[in-house]
Amino acid sequence: MAERLTLMTVHAHPDDEVFSTGGVLAKSAEQGIHTVLVTCTGGEEGEIVDPTMNQEEVKPRLAEVRKQELQDAVKVLGIETLEMLGYRDSGMAGTEANQNPASFHMADLEEATGRLVRLVRKHRPQVLVSYDENGSYGHPDHIKAHQITGLAFDAAGDPARFPEAGPAWQPQKLYICGRSRRQADRWRAMAEELNLDIPWLRAPQDVNEPPRGIPTESVTTIVEVADYAERKREALRVHKTQISPEFFIMSLPPEVIRRAFSEEEFIRARSLVDAPTPEDDLFAGLR
Ligand SMILES: [Zn+2]
Repeated sequence: MAERLTLMTVHAHPDDEVFSTGGVLAKSAEQGIHTVLVTCTGGEEGEIVDPTMNQEEVKPRLAEVRKQELQDAVKVLGIETLEMLGYRDSGMAGTEANQNPASFHMADLEEATGRLVRLVRKHRPQVLVSYDENGSYGHPDHIKAHQITGLAFDAAGDPARFPEAGPAWQPQKLYICGRSRRQADRWRAMAEELNLDIPWLRAPQDVNEPPRGIPTESVTTIVEVADYAERKREALRVHKTQISPEFFIMSLPPEVIRRAFSEEEFIRARSLVDAPTPEDDLFAGLR
């Protein structure tokens, strides 16, 4: 019997699944593909932006609250399987939380890779997705998620590696997700056209700051996800501790959201199957 098509996205914190992969997760689930979300940390270091929450009461149990939000988002996006890798949020680069021995940042690379290999062998995805080597924006947990995903891609198919983690399974394609500079420019043009002031899109303050987003010319894969735009917005909304009701996305009219969230872009970092470039499907060459 043919293996069921399976997509595994590896994200750092609860809510990261929505922005750059919420559309492909929802679309794939609707196509009958097994969708697996791996979230590496509990998001303990996140700020609490929900004005109705008592900070002192919620902060100590933020991981538990965010787990519930994540489960709600998983439902909204129709994701079939949620797996927590079990590490603590490392906080932004240079903060004290980086040194917490339970943090993902401090985790032994081999040990953390082994945990992901176990999940790859359990769910047998053909397609793996994580971030670029800068973790999209330099967050230590995003960088670590990138590292272990590449390492697990190489190790999972080798029975000599992590023999205790289950029978070998070789994923076929590895992707990097993220917003390209082209898409950021498109958002900027749209904001200007609609007269929206979006702090997010303002030029970086520091001229030495590297340009944000993945390089446009590296994008190999653009997936059309406009039909899932409202579900992405809804999935953001349920991450109440992280996404304020005032966040500009929440008040945009449906046709603007549809335009803004019309595509998700990826870089095909590795492929063991023949697939066209460009392609419009993460499973091109596998269906
Ligand atoms: Zn994150």
